[in-house]
Amino acid sequence: MMEVTKQLLLNLSLLLVLLFFFQMKMEKNTKALSVSSYRIYFTLSLLVCFLLTNTVSPEYIFDLRQIPLTLIGLYAGLSSSVGLYFITIILRGFLGIDSGFWSTVFVYGIQVLLTGSLHNWFLSLRLRHKLFVSIGFSVTPSIVWFTLSANPSHDFTNDFWISYLLVPIIGTLIITYTIELIKNNIALKEQITKAAKIEAVSHLSASISHEVRNPLSATRGFLQLLQDPTLDEEKKRTFSQIAIDELDRAEGIITDYLTFAKPDQVNEGPILVSETVKNILSVVTPLANMNSVEVKMNIEKDGKITGDHAKFHQALLNIIKNSIEAMPDSGVLSIKITETPTKAIIKIKDTGIGMTKEQVHRLGEPYFSTKGSNGTGLGMIVAYSVVYSMDGKVLVDSHIGVGTTFTLVFPKRKDAKKESLPEVMNII
Ligand code: ADP
Ligand code: MG
Repeated sequence: MMEVTKQLLLNLSLLLVLLFFFQMKMEKNTKALSVSSYRIYFTLSLLVCFLLTNTVSPEYIFDLRQIPLTLIGLYAGLSSSVGLYFITIILRGFLGIDSGFWSTVFVYGIQVLLTGSLHNWFLSLRLRHKLFVSIGFSVTPSIVWFTLSANPSHDFTNDFWISYLLVPIIGTLIITYTIELIKNNIALKEQITKAAKIEAVSHLSASISHEVRNPLSATRGFLQLLQDPTLDEEKKRTFSQIAIDELDRAEGIITDYLTFAKPDQVNEGPILVSETVKNILSVVTPLANMNSVEVKMNIEKDGKITGDHAKFHQALLNIIKNSIEAMPDSGVLSIKITETPTKAIIKIKDTGIGMTKEQVHRLGEPYFSTKGSNGTGLGMIVAYSVVYSMDGKVLVDSHIGVGTTFTLVFPKRKDAKKESLPEVMNII
């Protein structure tokens, strides 16, 4: 009998190993546990039970099959439990069609119908009650079975009771408890993701209002000046032009930030890298002037790439803005555009404060910012996610006090296909 207990414990530990893998898989996707994942886990568990089955005497076959058979109904519902029931009967059939086989058909038939129908009720229970219910269901068949087929000539030792009742009870307890833990973790993760999203939105609105406020207050100032009736025509024109420009800037900032808020909208097309860079430089010139940053642009070979123009603009802008911000009192920003036969390469180099290895590592982490209330820590995630969505790569080389170089590598646009189309048609 001791052997049987050992074997059952082995069986149980294999079920736990399976559960461990199951949990690892679940940890990866944050969606709630699906019926199919329960089906996979419990079916594999059942197979393990049958592989490690113990034939004590013709009428006693011990294994832990009652655990998957009980829990699948409670966790995944009637159709799953009935499915697993048929698999059980087939597998048990291979071991012999004897009285044990018919007891399996009968006892588990009732069992899976009951557990499957109680599925919704079970899921609404509190943890402790779930444990009681699952244990109750998993030992009931053993007890019924025992009453039906007990052979008085058997000598029922302690080992027998351990194998017959204790191991299944402990197994059911651990497995139910672990499944509940996994479910809890997933629910927690979902909550955290939601909270992070809400936080991102509020950070985003904070930074939009912050950056939009400056041009708006400038505009307001010039409009106020315009109210002066003694102002000559020339000045009026200049002031209103400045007001318009400032409003355009505010509008531009909103549009730029909103490319992050609308990640689903894709508007793909050809992008000429140098044009985007020139556009951005005109936007950031005031910032560069304020920091006495000299801007150098070197177009070695212009690359044409594919992507959403607004998002690409946003990504580059965020990187270039950081470079300028890294040089609060003077420095040189050099932007070099070049290409290889298959790649377009953009190098953005600053002579700014630089970053430690740890800081480089944390780039692209939401809300990582060393700028206190002036930073949002959103610029780099936007940049990284845009670059990755365009199948691009970001390489960072940074040294404290020396400066930082961001190298962006994108696959070049293949419009060769379109050009070769007429040729192909000629051949046909
Ligand atoms: P923010 O600019 O709002 O702080 P970002 O996501 O744009 O947020 O950047 C995150 C952090 O990365 C910055 O706070 C800064 O510490 C660091 N960083 C990014 N680019 C550079 C750079 N060119 N030089 C030095 N540090 C940089
Ligand atoms: Mg930034």
